[in-house]
Amino acid sequence: MSQSILELYPEETREAADLLKRAVPHMVRNDIPPTPMHYALWYTYSRGSEPDLNRRLEKIVKDFDVFPPEAAARLFREFVIRGELESARKGQQQVIDLVDDIESDVTQTVSGSQNYQQSLNAGLIALQETTVDDLPSVLNDLQQSTQEMQVQQEKFLHKLRGAQSEIQHLRSQLERAHAAATLDSLTNIFNRHAFTRLLEQALEGDRQGLALIILDIDHFKQFNDQYGHPLGDRVLQHVGQLLREMLPSRGVAARYGGEEFCVILRDCFEPSAAHAFAEQMRQKIQALRVKVRSTDKLLDTITASFGLALASADDTFDSLLTRADDALYQAKRNGRNQIHPSLPEKALSA
Ligand code: GH3
Ligand code: MG
Ligand code: MG
Repeated sequence: MSQSILELYPEETREAADLLKRAVPHMVRNDIPPTPMHYALWYTYSRGSEPDLNRRLEKIVKDFDVFPPEAAARLFREFVIRGELESARKGQQQVIDLVDDIESDVTQTVSGSQNYQQSLNAGLIALQETTVDDLPSVLNDLQQSTQEMQVQQEKFLHKLRGAQSEIQHLRSQLERAHAAATLDSLTNIFNRHAFTRLLEQALEGDRQGLALIILDIDHFKQFNDQYGHPLGDRVLQHVGQLLREMLPSRGVAARYGGEEFCVILRDCFEPSAAHAFAEQMRQKIQALRVKVRSTDKLLDTITASFGLALASADDTFDSLLTRADDALYQAKRNGRNQIHPSLPEKALSA
């Protein structure tokens, strides 16, 4: 599954610090107010992972003398927190505070080393002009400022090490926040929001061999009524697990809502490849044996129906989803526990 969180936040500590360093000059050059929101936006800008964001930021700094706060908020919601990652905002703020902190330490160390340089120079001049009597006191001064410098550097190094582990900690917090925002908590596969984004992305890229499957559990309301909601939840978890286990590489599985799941498949250059995956899933779901834990009673067989659509050159997000959904509806009408394909006239892979 292509959902590794590390792929979405791949920067190591040093790289993250580097990106922040690159963000600041952009902000200074364009008179961007140093707010947490802007730090986050320009950090993402330096990362270059959102070309759309970069284009829009560049346009705004070109068009406006003062960066409009409402535009910043909109971009922040759209590209950084994506409407729901509020905890990421906190995380970003913590990173910013930390960087501020390190920055002031760097400034202190730099000014400390400048002072040291000055006292070294003064010491060297004094040495040239010194008499034997003055020598101990000049050397003493030099030794003292060297020691002060060492202490300051050690303090700074200590702080830097602490900051590195703090950054790692914040990074894993961000990863967790991101997982919470993209994964369905019951089944641990992508949620509808993440799926929407991934299907949109898939349609922006190479559509050759792109297939969408929607599956819906049959008579699930009846199942819930008969065995109760908690057992129904366990069935949903089992289906999620099957999808995780069976998903081919570059595939995406998501819980679209309720008892409905979506799968994006790549490399289905023959319609039969997507069909074969759906058929395997259909059989595995039918073979699920769910027991009531307290009595060991085996529950009725669970089945699901499938709608399948191969992306055509003309498909939009909505049309592809509608075609797969219509096909699912046909599978239900034809008696459930089956797959119905929707093959457009100009299916790229047909
Ligand atoms: P069909 O074969 O036509 O799909 O019939 P159905 O009963 O599955 O379809 P319907 O849309 O009428 O009912 C869907 C049911 O799915 C309703 C609800 O009880 C159940 N459901 C939705 N979300 C959840 C959930 O999170 N947990 C559980 N246990 N059940 C859910
Ligand atoms: Mg159903
Ligand atoms: Mg349904």
